[in-house]
Amino acid sequence: MTTTGKAGEYVHRLDGHAAGTPDRIDRAANASILLPHNAPVISEQEARSTAEELVRAMSSEPDVPPLAIMGVEEHPECWVFFYQTVRYIETGSIMDGVAGNAPILVERTTGQPHWTGTARSISYYLTEYANGRHTCELCRSSGATM
Ligand SMILES: [Zn+2]
Repeated sequence: MTTTGKAGEYVHRLDGHAAGTPDRIDRAANASILLPHNAPVISEQEARSTAEELVRAMSSEPDVPPLAIMGVEEHPECWVFFYQTVRYIETGSIMDGVAGNAPILVERTTGQPHWTGTARSISYYLTEYANGRHTCELCRSSGATM
């Protein structure tokens, strides 16, 4: 019986694609043609209050410090809201920040919020979303069945 090293067991698999290529996003701009002419479009204010609601819900968890939205990015199909602890925003010190603060994506036409993630850059998650490969807790629960 030989005992060969098992150190290679945990192989981090990547599919060879680095962060999404920005030129793919150009196609997303044409997607609006496919939408009904009178599709409802929410305002940034409405999108922000949706994001604020989620941030407030998180802050109400016992182990989570008070959180606040610290930035927004505007995209053709959505807004992306970034948040951090109130202390981090005040001090700017990474020591006061929280990890796992996945930015919130809010759809322009529906107002549907989505969690992105923290493992990759926001452009990766936006590309996944634009290509219909996105799924999260928030949109899964609004779908019909699991
Ligand atoms: Zn989602």
